[in-house]
Amino acid sequence: RSELRDGGGSPDGKDEIPVHGISETIVGVLGGGQLGRMLCQAASKMAIKIMTLDPLENCPASALAFHHVVGSFDDGDTVREFAKRCGVVTVEIEHVDAITLEKLEQQGIDCQPKASTIRMIQDKYLQKVHFSQHGIPVTDFMQINDQEEAEQTGKLFGYPLMIKSRRLAYDGRGNAVAYNKEEISSAVSALGGYDRGLYVEKWTPFVKELSVIVGRGRDGTILCYSVVETVHKDNICHIVEAPADVPHVIRKRSCDVAEKAVSSLEGAGVFAVELFLTNDGQVLLNEVAPRPHNSGHHTIESCYTSQYEQHLRAVIGLPLGDPSMKVPAAIMYNILGEDEGEAGFLLAHQLMARALIIPGASVHWYDKPDARNPRVAIIMGSDSDLPIMKDAAEVLKTFDVPFEIT
Ligand code: ADP
Ligand code: MG
Repeated sequence: RSELRDGGGSPDGKDEIPVHGISETIVGVLGGGQLGRMLCQAASKMAIKIMTLDPLENCPASALAFHHVVGSFDDGDTVREFAKRCGVVTVEIEHVDAITLEKLEQQGIDCQPKASTIRMIQDKYLQKVHFSQHGIPVTDFMQINDQEEAEQTGKLFGYPLMIKSRRLAYDGRGNAVAYNKEEISSAVSALGGYDRGLYVEKWTPFVKELSVIVGRGRDGTILCYSVVETVHKDNICHIVEAPADVPHVIRKRSCDVAEKAVSSLEGAGVFAVELFLTNDGQVLLNEVAPRPHNSGHHTIESCYTSQYEQHLRAVIGLPLGDPSMKVPAAIMYNILGEDEGEAGFLLAHQLMARALIIPGASVHWYDKPDARNPRVAIIMGSDSDLPIMKDAAEVLKTFDVPFEIT
């Protein structure tokens, strides 16, 4: 199928696509979701050519990519053929065949960030081991292989107990909470059993969830974006407030943790560092994504250089751009068509229509091929100062009304 779309191609393929833009490098992106789509938008500004690889022919990025290849980013042969055609390979999702990428790197394929980083990050347990070994504060965690070990961690950490699958987790799918010893087995079954590879985290009673996007250039330059607060709804990033309404010392602490975490990783690109803020002012690392992140959508409108442009600059080897905000504050709503079928679609459309008349608001329609699950990101910048602008809070209220109707 990918052959059909590509119309064949030369064996090394690199000279197949004429390049006239800011860089001769063809950037191959594994994955074609909304993050890939937004990478393509940033790329078009500088005439950077992006090739995407995604199993869906009509994935969100497909319409904007310079060239879209239909195929699985988790299949070794497909990734190999794809990578050979690119000047540099990067990801917009971490669940790719990283083992193949590592082999390709040894053969001279340029992968940014490094395949070893992607491989380590895609296993959340190895990620936690890595960061704790590098002296980065994380919540207590432990691998579990059977019921006995799970119950041991319950004794050690107390309840509720956060049980997580090591791999292929997103949007909270991959997490299950046991509120007591009796609930461990059902939580484990919900995650697919011990064979799936599980680990346990101590419950963190955070007061806020924060996120820092960090860009790192090929020369090692590191630049942090403003710390933002993320509010999740059903484990999905729902609201992002930029900058986070936290004391300066917490912002500084968050940046320090994020910078230290990214310094311990290899390769160029942007990384999203998800953090927990506890009531005693501790900042703990939750997880890192080796790619642009939903918590950084607002950077498109609110920062001098968006996280997407920064990622492209980084992987190509251009100088990094200024990540600072050009408005005092911004807020992002990630709107999901929460209802199944027609109703959910209509609701998302209504919300988008309402957002279109809000001064300063920008609407980003993800264009997910599944029409029953539309997603819109609405980003607002404001002239008003922190705490986050009151008008945006008013808008939140109006958005929240229809969300109560399910
Ligand atoms: P995902 O890959 O789905 O983003 P996360 O590990 O980030 O998975 O967990 C999703 C959400 O679950 C987090 O954003 C946070 O709200 C909550 N969470 C995760 N780990 C813990 C924990 N140890 N204690 C309390 N809440 C947690
Ligand atoms: Mg997360």
